[in-house]
Amino acid sequence: MSTYGIDLGTTYSCIARLDSNGNPEVIRNNEDDSNTVASVVFFENENNVVVGQAAKENVETDGERVVQFVKREIGKRDTRTYEFDGKTYTPVEISALILTRLKNLVEDQGGTIQDVVITVPAYFGLEERSATKQAGELAGLNVLSLINEPTAAALSYCARQFQEDRTILVYDLGGGTFDVTVVKMSMAQNDSGRDVQKITVLATGGDDRLGGKDWDDRLYNHILHACCDENGLTPEEVEAETRQDIRSKVEEAKRKLSKKQSAKVRIDVNGSRTEITIKRSDFEQMTSDIVAKTMNFVDATLEKVPAEAIDTVLLVGGSTYMPMIINAVEAKFPGKVQQHDPDQAVAKGAAIYASMLVEEVDSLSADGTENSDGSGKTIPHAEQLTSKFTVEDQTPRSFGPGVVDTTGAKHKYVLENFIKIGEKMPAIFSKTYYPLEDNQERVLLRAFDTLIPCVDEDGNPQATDPAHNVKLLGELVVNLPPNTSRDTPIKVTFKVDASGVHVEAVNTKTDETFETFLRTESDIDVERSAVHQLRISAD
Ligand code: ADP
Ligand code: MG
Repeated sequence: MSTYGIDLGTTYSCIARLDSNGNPEVIRNNEDDSNTVASVVFFENENNVVVGQAAKENVETDGERVVQFVKREIGKRDTRTYEFDGKTYTPVEISALILTRLKNLVEDQGGTIQDVVITVPAYFGLEERSATKQAGELAGLNVLSLINEPTAAALSYCARQFQEDRTILVYDLGGGTFDVTVVKMSMAQNDSGRDVQKITVLATGGDDRLGGKDWDDRLYNHILHACCDENGLTPEEVEAETRQDIRSKVEEAKRKLSKKQSAKVRIDVNGSRTEITIKRSDFEQMTSDIVAKTMNFVDATLEKVPAEAIDTVLLVGGSTYMPMIINAVEAKFPGKVQQHDPDQAVAKGAAIYASMLVEEVDSLSADGTENSDGSGKTIPHAEQLTSKFTVEDQTPRSFGPGVVDTTGAKHKYVLENFIKIGEKMPAIFSKTYYPLEDNQERVLLRAFDTLIPCVDEDGNPQATDPAHNVKLLGELVVNLPPNTSRDTPIKVTFKVDASGVHVEAVNTKTDETFETFLRTESDIDVERSAVHQLRISAD
């Protein structure tokens, strides 16, 4: 059985594996004659749920039964649910349906699939990551790990061009999101003392509401107005069917304009057939401000890593097929721009990473013996890859417990930053605290996702300013035996890896251990009593 890499995208998803020569290959979506699957789900009726292009084609006619852009919802607090035919679906469950469709692509072609790596945006917090992992498990997959999308893209790039010490800016313009990330590839030594290529994320930025859809919307308006001009109508006079007709032809026209100088669309305008020709130059003019907007995000990211330090700019995401994007990026970084299968690079990088992980776990054959997967093909052990790369991801946020500081004149509830943003993952940190008072029956250990201490007197997270974005992740109830003195050391450990935050508290007198894994849906029993707290030792 081989391992697979999955790019679970906002608008399109993709699945890849390593072929018999160890090269990443995408599993074709024969039904849609494409390398990708539209991340769109159509709840046709009680017995039929459609995923992919066929679902997308129902957006205009049956929009209320179609779910798209669910990646924007996954792992978010107070997220919406969807209801169809008396059943309720969470964003995790919708994502699982998309993953199941990808899984079926493999199975329909005779393969078997279990172990996968799923990609997530670098800016995803731990809740979004946990939820993504959960979606994979719900689809019956064994999620070996998650990997950041730009890291995966860089990995697929370095599999193609092995070079020493490079700083790569990944410009990823997809259907609904824009991510700019700077990753550094450098030479390092792995545990067995071999030279390996190390990939480290240096800076991230972007906008999760900026993508190909913005170009679609501009083109839609342009075509709508052209149809009005041709037929002497005002936009208000245009019938709903006509609007739907335009909407369904916009994306194809946009793709055509990436290849040709002009594209023709035929629209049935209130019953009269109308042909509209769009020139690439006009399309570029009407969207130049959105291109500029992406470049502003690039500039903002370059405040953290100077432009001179960038050796290569990697174009990723389907929207970078547009010549206007290639030109704008090339103008800023002359001679440095690279683009290889921008809609597949992320999935391919994830496939490479997946095989590296299996290689690590499965140290069966250091000699590179071939093993067989369910499709009857053989795949090589990724021994060569493992000896080439190591991926170093960083913590997306800072984490720590809320405790009472009794060292000053007045008791203060403070958040301790155990694990700081940008630390190498997995990150682990421990510190010993003490019960606030004698005979405390329990302590409520609150875990925060935090950048700086920012809570009110009761320890409730305050402020919504992103710079002060403190979130209560969850609570661990640590029961204490009767007559516990306030000098009983309680050792608190936080561990953060790509799949979430693990919190542990050990009563070092009794060796009793309490632990929890914090996920999105963690049911927080918020008891706000100030006595059930841990305190920082006075010494
Ligand atoms: P995601 O946002 O899900 O990561 P992709 O990276 O596959 O998805 O990007 C999808 C976007 O790329 C869509 O807006 C799609 O219209 C656009 N796209 C794909 N191919 C082309 C092309 N040849 N020219 C212009 N846009 C394209
Ligand atoms: Mg993408």
